[in-house]
Amino acid sequence: MPELPETQTIAAILNENLKGKNVLQVQVSKDYKALPSTDIFIKTITGKQIKSVERVAKNVLLKLDNGVRILFHLAMTGRLLLWKNSVGSEKWVKVILHFDGDTKLTFSDMRMFGKAAVLSPKQTEELTARYGPEPLDENTTPQKLFENLKTKRTNIKNALLDQEVISGLGNIYATDALFLAKINPLTKTNNITIENASQLLSASRTVLNEGIKFGGSTLGDKMYVDPFGKEGTYQEHFKIYSKEKCPVCGAKVSFIKISGRGTYFCPGCQPLTNE
Ligand SMILES: [Zn+2]
Repeated sequence: MPELPETQTIAAILNENLKGKNVLQVQVSKDYKALPSTDIFIKTITGKQIKSVERVAKNVLLKLDNGVRILFHLAMTGRLLLWKNSVGSEKWVKVILHFDGDTKLTFSDMRMFGKAAVLSPKQTEELTARYGPEPLDENTTPQKLFENLKTKRTNIKNALLDQEVISGLGNIYATDALFLAKINPLTKTNNITIENASQLLSASRTVLNEGIKFGGSTLGDKMYVDPFGKEGTYQEHFKIYSKEKCPVCGAKVSFIKISGRGTYFCPGCQPLTNE
């Protein structure tokens, strides 16, 4: 599932390649419902120009010259691909945007948990307000993360995945950040200290920046690729995620499920000290 680095990689490539282009034609597959309705989706964006492409949490937003945003949320199996001339052999294509210069953008979604929508400027503000602070924003402080964590009565792993607490972290990067911060994923948020929050914010920035540097992570399912079809390589730089041995102490890595999500940690380097 694309997290902040994958979404950021997609948004940056789309911004570079679609800025200034006009939406000439919009096709939506019959088995798919764009929001608020396919008719409105098509009418609102046809003939408009792309001003910029941005990321908000794990959403890709294409800003149009009328202030409206086209939102794509990739969820589990969504993909955004750029094509020159003809659309290749991509499966489960739900939306095609045709631009000048024979450029096309496809949104495909095998399991259809993703989203294609148009948002007014007000709806865009509301969307942004629903998310917690951006971890890479320098205005996001350890104190803010600490306060947000304290509003959730759960373990730290679940809290980090809660997009109201901090936005953009998903299973892989949260797992790796907890390892770098030497915090056990099962630690109750009650027991998290301001020092922990500070270590976590710093560790999150480290893994997210590395994720962006390596173009995101592509797992064995090959589900995530960038808009040119290129795989990310952060998986070659995982800190603890998917590993069998701890890279720091060599101990066997523990694998547990927390809220159904596979979680890796080193019991030696990330002891549960405060039950
Ligand atoms: Zn270890």
